[in-house]
Amino acid sequence: SAVSTSPALSAAAAAGSSMDPSRLRNVAVIAHVDHGKTTLMDRLLRQCGAEIPHERAMDSNSLERERGITIASKVTSISWKDIELNMVDTPGHADFGGEVERVVGMVEGAVLVVDAGEGPLAQTKFVLAKALKYGLRPILLLNKVDRPSVSEETCNEVESLVFDLFANLGATEEQLDFPVLYASAKEGWASLTYTKTPADDARNMSPLLDAIVQHVPSPSASLDDPFRMLVSMMERDFYLGRILTGRIFSGVIHVGDRIHGLRGTCNGVQKIEEGKVTKLMKKMGTNIVPIDTAGAGDIVLIAGLANPSIGHTVANVEVMTALPTVVLDPPTISMT
Ligand code: GDP
Repeated sequence: SAVSTSPALSAAAAAGSSMDPSRLRNVAVIAHVDHGKTTLMDRLLRQCGAEIPHERAMDSNSLERERGITIASKVTSISWKDIELNMVDTPGHADFGGEVERVVGMVEGAVLVVDAGEGPLAQTKFVLAKALKYGLRPILLLNKVDRPSVSEETCNEVESLVFDLFANLGATEEQLDFPVLYASAKEGWASLTYTKTPADDARNMSPLLDAIVQHVPSPSASLDDPFRMLVSMMERDFYLGRILTGRIFSGVIHVGDRIHGLRGTCNGVQKIEEGKVTKLMKKMGTNIVPIDTAGAGDIVLIAGLANPSIGHTVANVEVMTALPTVVLDPPTISMT
Protein backbone atom coordinates (compact mmCIF):
# COMPACT_ATOMS: atom_id res chain seq x y z
CA SER A 1 0.00 0.00 0.00
CA ALA A 2 0.96 3.65 -0.25
CA VAL A 3 1.33 3.74 3.51
CA SER A 4 3.92 1.01 3.82
CA THR A 5 6.05 2.24 0.92
CA SER A 6 6.38 5.86 2.06
CA PRO A 7 9.99 6.45 3.17
CA ALA A 8 8.86 8.76 5.97
CA LEU A 9 6.49 6.15 7.30
CA SER A 10 9.04 3.35 7.02
CA ALA A 11 11.43 5.50 8.99
CA ALA A 12 8.74 5.96 11.62
CA ALA A 13 8.24 2.21 11.81
CA ALA A 14 11.98 1.74 12.24
CA ALA A 15 11.91 4.33 15.00
CA GLY A 16 9.49 2.21 16.95
CA SER A 17 6.07 3.43 15.96
CA SER A 18 3.81 1.47 13.67
CA MET A 19 2.03 3.33 10.88
CA ASP A 20 -0.21 0.35 10.24
CA PRO A 21 -3.03 -0.04 12.79
CA SER A 22 -3.28 -3.75 11.96
CA ARG A 23 0.21 -4.14 13.45
CA LEU A 24 -0.81 -2.59 16.78
CA ARG A 25 -2.40 -4.11 19.86
CA ASN A 26 -3.45 -1.94 22.80
CA VAL A 27 -3.87 -4.00 25.95
CA ALA A 28 -4.75 -3.19 29.57
CA VAL A 29 -3.14 -5.33 32.24
CA ILE A 30 -5.55 -5.92 35.09
CA ALA A 31 -4.62 -7.56 38.40
CA HIS A 32 -5.31 -7.50 42.10
CA VAL A 33 -2.27 -6.22 43.99
CA ASP A 34 0.36 -8.97 44.51
CA HIS A 35 -1.08 -11.26 41.84
CA GLY A 36 2.05 -10.72 39.75
CA LYS A 37 1.56 -7.83 37.32
CA THR A 38 5.03 -6.34 37.91
CA THR A 39 6.76 -9.71 37.64
CA LEU A 40 4.85 -10.47 34.45
CA MET A 41 5.71 -7.15 32.78
CA ASP A 42 9.34 -7.63 33.74
CA ARG A 43 9.35 -11.05 32.07
CA LEU A 44 7.68 -9.80 28.92
CA LEU A 45 10.26 -7.03 28.67
CA ARG A 46 13.12 -9.43 29.24
CA GLN A 47 11.88 -11.71 26.49
CA CYS A 48 11.23 -8.91 23.99
CA GLY A 49 13.93 -6.52 25.14
CA ALA A 50 16.36 -7.61 22.46
CA GLU A 51 13.93 -6.40 19.80
CA ILE A 52 13.94 -2.80 20.97
CA PRO A 53 15.98 -0.93 18.35
CA HIS A 54 19.41 -0.78 19.93
CA GLU A 55 20.41 2.71 18.81
CA ARG A 56 17.11 4.08 20.01
CA ALA A 57 17.59 2.59 23.45
CA MET A 58 21.06 4.18 23.60
CA ASP A 59 19.66 7.53 22.51
CA SER A 60 17.11 7.59 25.22
CA ASN A 61 19.56 6.37 27.83
CA SER A 62 21.77 9.32 27.13
CA LEU A 63 18.73 11.57 26.91
CA GLU A 64 17.74 10.46 30.36
CA ARG A 65 21.23 10.64 31.81
CA GLU A 66 22.20 13.98 30.36
CA ARG A 67 18.96 15.80 30.74
CA GLY A 68 17.46 14.04 33.72
CA ILE A 69 14.22 13.25 31.95
CA THR A 70 12.05 11.21 34.27
CA ILE A 71 8.81 10.04 32.77
CA ALA A 72 6.98 7.24 34.58
CA SER A 73 4.64 6.34 31.74
CA LYS A 74 2.03 3.69 32.47
CA VAL A 75 2.15 2.59 28.84
CA THR A 76 4.96 0.23 27.90
CA SER A 77 5.48 -0.80 24.28
CA ILE A 78 6.83 -4.20 23.33
CA SER A 79 7.74 -5.47 19.87
CA TRP A 80 6.67 -9.02 19.17
CA LYS A 81 6.93 -10.67 15.74
CA ASP A 82 6.35 -7.46 13.78
CA ILE A 83 3.49 -6.40 16.04
CA GLU A 84 3.75 -3.57 18.51
CA LEU A 85 2.00 -4.19 21.82
CA ASN A 86 1.12 -1.15 23.93
CA MET A 87 0.62 -2.54 27.43
CA VAL A 88 -1.25 -0.17 29.73
CA ASP A 89 -1.01 -0.55 33.48
CA THR A 90 -4.34 -0.24 35.27
CA PRO A 91 -4.57 1.01 38.84
CA GLY A 92 -4.68 -1.91 41.26
CA HIS A 93 -7.20 -0.21 43.46
CA ALA A 94 -10.73 1.11 43.15
CA ASP A 95 -10.25 4.76 42.23
CA PHE A 96 -12.83 7.50 42.19
CA GLY A 97 -11.12 9.67 39.62
CA GLY A 98 -12.08 7.73 36.53
CA GLU A 99 -8.57 6.49 35.80
CA VAL A 100 -9.78 2.96 35.20
CA GLU A 101 -12.29 4.20 32.63
CA ARG A 102 -9.62 6.19 30.87
CA VAL A 103 -7.36 3.16 30.64
CA VAL A 104 -10.02 0.75 29.39
CA GLY A 105 -11.19 3.44 26.99
CA MET A 106 -7.83 3.55 25.22
CA VAL A 107 -7.37 -0.19 24.60
CA GLU A 108 -9.05 -2.95 22.61
CA GLY A 109 -8.16 -5.82 24.92
CA ALA A 110 -7.05 -6.85 28.39
CA VAL A 111 -5.00 -9.44 30.20
CA LEU A 112 -6.60 -10.35 33.50
CA VAL A 113 -3.89 -11.67 35.82
CA VAL A 114 -5.30 -13.82 38.62
CA ASP A 115 -3.33 -15.61 41.32
CA ALA A 116 -4.24 -19.27 40.70
CA GLY A 117 -4.08 -19.94 44.42
CA GLU A 118 -6.15 -17.00 45.58
CA GLY A 119 -8.70 -16.58 42.82
CA PRO A 120 -10.27 -13.27 41.76
CA LEU A 121 -10.37 -10.63 44.51
CA ALA A 122 -12.10 -7.31 45.06
CA GLN A 123 -9.77 -5.12 43.03
CA THR A 124 -9.90 -7.49 40.09
CA LYS A 125 -13.64 -7.18 40.10
CA PHE A 126 -13.72 -3.40 40.10
CA VAL A 127 -11.48 -3.03 37.07
CA LEU A 128 -12.98 -6.03 35.29
CA ALA A 129 -16.47 -4.55 35.57
CA LYS A 130 -15.27 -1.46 33.68
CA ALA A 131 -13.40 -3.52 31.09
CA LEU A 132 -16.47 -5.65 30.34
CA LYS A 133 -18.68 -2.58 30.15
CA TYR A 134 -16.34 -1.13 27.54
CA GLY A 135 -16.73 -4.31 25.49
CA LEU A 136 -13.24 -5.68 26.05
CA ARG A 137 -12.78 -9.45 25.90
CA PRO A 138 -10.14 -10.18 28.52
CA ILE A 139 -7.65 -13.02 28.33
CA LEU A 140 -7.43 -14.85 31.68
CA LEU A 141 -3.88 -15.53 32.87
CA LEU A 142 -3.80 -17.84 35.88
CA ASN A 143 -0.49 -16.93 37.48
CA LYS A 144 1.69 -18.56 40.16
CA VAL A 145 0.92 -22.04 38.82
CA ASP A 146 4.36 -23.09 40.11
CA ARG A 147 3.11 -22.91 43.69
CA PRO A 148 2.75 -26.32 45.41
CA SER A 149 -0.81 -25.50 46.52
CA VAL A 150 -1.92 -24.95 42.91
CA SER A 151 -3.18 -27.98 40.94
CA GLU A 152 -5.17 -28.54 37.77
CA GLU A 153 -8.21 -28.92 40.00
CA THR A 154 -7.72 -25.62 41.84
CA CYS A 155 -7.14 -23.91 38.46
CA ASN A 156 -10.46 -25.29 37.21
CA GLU A 157 -12.13 -23.94 40.34
CA VAL A 158 -10.61 -20.49 39.85
CA GLU A 159 -11.63 -20.54 36.19
CA SER A 160 -15.22 -21.21 37.13
CA LEU A 161 -15.08 -18.48 39.79
CA VAL A 162 -13.88 -16.06 37.10
CA PHE A 163 -16.63 -17.29 34.76
CA ASP A 164 -19.25 -16.63 37.47
CA LEU A 165 -17.75 -13.22 38.11
CA PHE A 166 -17.96 -12.36 34.39
CA ALA A 167 -21.57 -13.59 34.30
CA ASN A 168 -22.50 -11.55 37.40
CA LEU A 169 -20.97 -8.48 35.81
CA GLY A 170 -23.19 -8.92 32.75
CA ALA A 171 -20.60 -10.30 30.34
CA THR A 172 -21.78 -11.16 26.83
CA GLU A 173 -21.54 -14.70 25.38
CA GLU A 174 -18.39 -13.65 23.57
CA GLN A 175 -16.80 -12.22 26.70
CA LEU A 176 -17.71 -15.38 28.67
CA ASP A 177 -15.81 -17.44 26.12
CA PHE A 178 -12.49 -16.03 27.37
CA PRO A 179 -9.14 -17.59 26.48
CA VAL A 180 -7.27 -19.05 29.47
CA LEU A 181 -3.51 -19.37 29.94
CA TYR A 182 -1.48 -20.76 32.82
CA ALA A 183 1.70 -19.07 33.91
CA SER A 184 4.51 -18.69 36.32
CA ALA A 185 5.61 -15.11 35.84
CA LYS A 186 8.27 -15.79 38.44
CA GLU A 187 9.75 -18.66 36.42
CA GLY A 188 9.13 -16.77 33.18
CA TRP A 189 6.68 -18.96 31.27
CA ALA A 190 3.06 -19.15 30.11
CA SER A 191 1.20 -22.12 28.65
CA LEU A 192 -2.09 -22.78 26.85
CA THR A 193 -2.56 -26.00 28.82
CA TYR A 194 -2.14 -26.65 32.52
CA THR A 195 1.35 -27.74 33.47
CA LYS A 196 3.81 -27.25 36.28
CA THR A 197 6.84 -28.31 34.29
CA PRO A 198 6.90 -26.98 30.73
CA ALA A 199 9.58 -28.36 28.41
CA ASP A 200 12.80 -26.34 28.36
CA ASP A 201 12.00 -24.80 24.98
CA ALA A 202 8.54 -23.77 26.25
CA ARG A 203 9.74 -21.92 29.33
CA ASN A 204 8.96 -18.50 27.89
CA MET A 205 6.17 -15.97 27.48
CA SER A 206 5.53 -16.62 23.77
CA PRO A 207 2.10 -18.28 24.30
CA LEU A 208 0.85 -15.14 26.08
CA LEU A 209 2.31 -12.78 23.48
CA ASP A 210 0.79 -14.88 20.68
CA ALA A 211 -2.57 -14.98 22.48
CA ILE A 212 -2.59 -11.18 22.73
CA VAL A 213 -1.88 -10.83 19.00
CA GLN A 214 -4.54 -13.43 18.17
CA HIS A 215 -7.36 -12.37 20.50
CA VAL A 216 -7.02 -8.60 20.88
CA PRO A 217 -8.45 -6.69 17.91
CA SER A 218 -6.19 -4.11 16.31
CA PRO A 219 -7.42 -0.52 16.72
CA SER A 220 -9.71 0.64 13.96
CA ALA A 221 -8.45 4.10 13.15
CA SER A 222 -7.95 6.09 9.97
CA LEU A 223 -4.54 7.43 9.03
CA ASP A 224 -6.13 9.64 6.37
CA ASP A 225 -8.20 11.88 8.64
CA PRO A 226 -6.65 14.84 10.47
CA PHE A 227 -4.71 14.14 13.65
CA ARG A 228 -6.82 13.86 16.78
CA MET A 229 -6.01 12.35 20.17
CA LEU A 230 -7.93 12.15 23.43
CA VAL A 231 -5.69 12.91 26.40
CA SER A 232 -6.01 9.97 28.80
CA MET A 233 -3.01 10.50 31.05
CA MET A 234 -0.87 13.44 32.02
CA GLU A 235 2.42 13.84 33.79
CA ARG A 236 5.12 16.46 34.17
CA ASP A 237 8.77 16.41 33.30
CA PHE A 238 11.12 19.09 34.59
CA TYR A 239 12.70 19.64 31.14
CA LEU A 240 9.89 18.81 28.74
CA GLY A 241 6.99 20.23 30.72
CA ARG A 242 3.59 18.66 30.45
CA ILE A 243 3.51 15.20 28.86
CA LEU A 244 0.16 14.19 27.38
CA THR A 245 -0.54 10.51 26.73
CA GLY A 246 -3.37 9.12 24.66
CA ARG A 247 -4.38 6.86 21.83
CA ILE A 248 -4.30 8.57 18.47
CA PHE A 249 -7.89 8.56 17.27
CA SER A 250 -7.08 9.46 13.68
CA GLY A 251 -4.34 10.78 11.45
CA VAL A 252 -0.59 11.09 11.77
CA ILE A 253 1.50 13.34 14.00
CA HIS A 254 5.11 14.48 13.53
CA VAL A 255 7.54 16.36 15.72
CA GLY A 256 7.13 20.05 14.83
CA ASP A 257 3.46 19.78 13.79
CA ARG A 258 1.19 22.61 14.80
CA ILE A 259 -1.47 21.32 17.17
CA HIS A 260 -3.97 22.71 19.57
CA GLY A 261 -5.86 21.59 22.63
CA LEU A 262 -9.65 21.58 22.55
CA ARG A 263 -12.28 21.12 25.20
CA GLY A 264 -15.86 20.15 24.47
CA THR A 265 -18.35 22.42 26.20
CA CYS A 266 -22.14 22.40 26.38
CA ASN A 267 -22.32 24.94 23.58
CA GLY A 268 -19.57 23.69 21.32
CA VAL A 269 -15.85 23.65 21.63
CA GLN A 270 -13.31 25.79 23.44
CA LYS A 271 -9.79 26.23 22.18
CA ILE A 272 -7.36 25.91 25.07
CA GLU A 273 -3.94 26.51 23.55
CA GLU A 274 -2.10 26.34 20.26
CA GLY A 275 1.50 25.22 19.93
CA LYS A 276 3.72 22.67 18.32
CA VAL A 277 4.89 19.18 19.08
CA THR A 278 8.33 19.57 20.67
CA LYS A 279 8.78 15.90 21.48
CA LEU A 280 6.99 12.68 20.61
CA MET A 281 7.84 9.61 22.68
CA LYS A 282 7.04 6.03 23.54
CA LYS A 283 8.25 3.95 26.43
CA MET A 284 9.94 1.05 24.70
CA GLY A 285 10.87 -1.49 27.32
CA THR A 286 12.20 0.60 30.17
CA ASN A 287 13.44 3.49 28.02
CA ILE A 288 11.64 6.63 26.98
CA VAL A 289 12.33 6.65 23.24
CA PRO A 290 11.96 9.79 21.13
CA ILE A 291 10.14 9.10 17.85
CA ASP A 292 9.63 11.30 14.79
CA THR A 293 6.09 10.41 13.90
CA ALA A 294 3.19 8.21 14.97
CA GLY A 295 -0.10 7.14 13.43
CA ALA A 296 -3.74 6.43 14.24
CA GLY A 297 -4.36 3.68 16.78
CA ASP A 298 -1.01 4.07 18.48
CA ILE A 299 -0.55 5.29 22.06
CA VAL A 300 2.06 8.04 22.38
CA LEU A 301 3.44 10.68 24.72
CA ILE A 302 3.41 14.26 23.44
CA ALA A 303 5.25 17.29 24.79
CA GLY A 304 4.69 20.84 23.55
CA LEU A 305 1.44 22.06 25.03
CA ALA A 306 1.32 23.32 28.62
CA ASN A 307 -2.39 23.58 29.27
CA PRO A 308 -4.52 20.77 27.86
CA SER A 309 -5.40 18.16 30.43
CA ILE A 310 -7.04 14.78 30.85
CA GLY A 311 -10.26 14.51 28.84
CA HIS A 312 -9.21 17.22 26.39
CA THR A 313 -8.58 16.67 22.71
CA VAL A 314 -5.24 17.42 21.09
CA ALA A 315 -5.62 17.89 17.35
CA ASN A 316 -4.24 19.28 14.14
CA VAL A 317 -5.01 23.03 14.10
CA GLU A 318 -7.56 22.60 11.31
CA VAL A 319 -9.75 20.38 13.54
CA MET A 320 -12.40 22.24 15.55
CA THR A 321 -14.30 19.36 17.15
CA ALA A 322 -13.41 17.75 20.47
CA LEU A 323 -13.53 13.97 20.93
CA PRO A 324 -16.07 12.67 23.41
CA THR A 325 -14.47 11.83 26.75
CA VAL A 326 -14.72 8.18 27.60
CA VAL A 327 -16.55 8.23 30.93
CA LEU A 328 -19.68 6.09 30.51
CA ASP A 329 -21.25 6.69 33.89
CA PRO A 330 -21.09 9.58 36.29
CA PRO A 331 -18.63 8.61 39.03
CA THR A 332 -20.31 6.91 41.93
CA ILE A 333 -18.91 6.75 45.42
CA SER A 334 -19.45 3.33 46.90
CA MET A 335 -18.37 2.36 50.38
CA THR A 336 -18.67 -1.40 49.79
P1 GDP B 1 1.87 -6.96 41.60
O1 GDP B 1 1.51 -6.29 42.89
O2 GDP B 1 0.65 -7.50 40.91
O3 GDP B 1 2.70 -6.11 40.69
O4 GDP B 1 2.70 -8.27 42.00
P2 GDP B 1 4.26 -8.58 41.93
O5 GDP B 1 4.70 -8.86 40.55
O6 GDP B 1 5.00 -7.55 42.70
O7 GDP B 1 4.29 -9.97 42.71
C1 GDP B 1 3.88 -10.07 44.07
C2 GDP B 1 4.62 -11.24 44.73
O8 GDP B 1 4.26 -12.47 44.09
C3 GDP B 1 6.14 -11.13 44.61
O9 GDP B 1 6.72 -11.60 45.79
C4 GDP B 1 6.46 -12.03 43.43
O10 GDP B 1 7.76 -12.58 43.51
C5 GDP B 1 5.42 -13.12 43.58
N1 GDP B 1 5.10 -13.74 42.30
C6 GDP B 1 4.78 -13.12 41.13
N2 GDP B 1 4.55 -14.03 40.17
C7 GDP B 1 4.74 -15.24 40.73
C8 GDP B 1 4.66 -16.58 40.23
O11 GDP B 1 4.37 -16.84 39.07
N3 GDP B 1 4.91 -17.58 41.14
C9 GDP B 1 5.22 -17.35 42.44
N4 GDP B 1 5.44 -18.40 43.23
N5 GDP B 1 5.30 -16.11 42.93
C10 GDP B 1 5.07 -15.06 42.09
